[in-house]
Amino acid sequence: MSQLSLLLKIVGSRMKAQEFFLLLKNKKPVIRQGYYDDEANVILALCNEMRLNMIKSDFAIELAESGFANKGVKSKEGMCFYYISKDPNLAVAAKEAESTDDHKTLGKFLDYPPCCIDFFETNFSQTHTNLQLTPARWETNLTKRVSDWCVLSHFPCSNDCKHSLSLTTTYFRIILEDNPHWAKELKTNLESNISNE
Ligand SMILES: [Zn+2]
Repeated sequence: MSQLSLLLKIVGSRMKAQEFFLLLKNKKPVIRQGYYDDEANVILALCNEMRLNMIKSDFAIELAESGFANKGVKSKEGMCFYYISKDPNLAVAAKEAESTDDHKTLGKFLDYPPCCIDFFETNFSQTHTNLQLTPARWETNLTKRVSDWCVLSHFPCSNDCKHSLSLTTTYFRIILEDNPHWAKELKTNLESNISNE
């Protein structure tokens, strides 16, 4: 079984499995994922087995929209974020950055492009939490997140953002190597609502 399929069985989401996979392959320094308390034990066991460090946020989030934990609104109850890295210092630093709303530093730890971090800082607010663009190409298409299909973990500053395209190329190549069927399905789904006009 491919590593992606194994991870999917444990974490229960393709997008989360991909992030774990890319972290394990040294393509991401830190990942951040939302889990409810009753899910977190399974993830902790996975991290222990994989020698990953997992740090919990000291705030919970209310999801801004179902099925996507990229960014919610801080609240007392709900899902917590977990910062996961091979490097314990990076996991802690990412947690600290988010707890002080330092999006710039957090974005850097998560390996988001600087242009997209600026885009997020300028446009995100408590009432405007979804910065998703109308899709124009599969590489930067975020609209299939609701069906658990997406390559990127950040809001691209534009559909043609060259840093985002380069990340997708890197990520997709390594996904393809591990699981060609997964890669094909991923691309097909992300291409399915792109209009050519
Ligand atoms: Zn960008």
